[in-house]
Amino acid sequence: MRILVISDIHANLAAFEAVLADAGQVDAVLCLGDIVGYGPDPNECVALLRDLHPLVSLSGNHDWAVLGKLEVEDFNHDAQAAIRWTQSALHPDHRAYLQSLPPAGQFGDFTLAHASPRYPVWEYITDTLTAAENFEYFNTPYCLVGHTHAVAIFEQIGANGYCDLLLPEYGVPLSLGEERLILNPGSVGQPRDHDPRAAYAILDDAARTWEVRRVEYPIEQTQARMREIGLPRRLIARLSYGW
Ligand code: ZN
Repeated sequence: MRILVISDIHANLAAFEAVLADAGQVDAVLCLGDIVGYGPDPNECVALLRDLHPLVSLSGNHDWAVLGKLEVEDFNHDAQAAIRWTQSALHPDHRAYLQSLPPAGQFGDFTLAHASPRYPVWEYITDTLTAAENFEYFNTPYCLVGHTHAVAIFEQIGANGYCDLLLPEYGVPLSLGEERLILNPGSVGQPRDHDPRAAYAILDDAARTWEVRRVEYPIEQTQARMREIGLPRRLIARLSYGW
């Protein structure tokens, strides 16, 4: 099966549409959460996502905050403003859909978590120490996470808590071997790894490959919508930089 893996769409419809067009025909979709928050099109993104079939989707910390399952005050000032606007704009049936999504799950050999297998909603796996500690919190060979908005592959070295960070070559399928991995496809709607292009991955579970891709999208279209709504300027500017 050719599986589209996406995370952190963050209500950026232009980026989400560009990813779906670039990915082409897929047999299934895995979404690792944070469908809304930050961006200007929460309803359009939820509607587009839930029509994809078959779909396994998680919720993330921003989705939870919009639903009132996390304190909005725990987020930074700009994120709070975006969450509050999203709360006012989200249709009740889209809210109910987000409410139905868990923050963690499993798909075949792949454990799924929005943030980390240890703390599915909050923990950022940005370094090899944190990644190494997380390998004991899942039993499958591989774990897929989002949340950091940065493409990454953490490879477990031996069973004693060592771990390497690998960076994939975009558009080149990486063979999944014996090593246990934590794989992050990056963010569709708000990349933070100094590359403003939308990020996603194609997982081929028969060929056992993982391919991360980047795709350009009309950033200024999303930024114009954010300006219309009055979302914070820093959130608008950061899309240009991928940071
Ligand atoms: Zn996020």
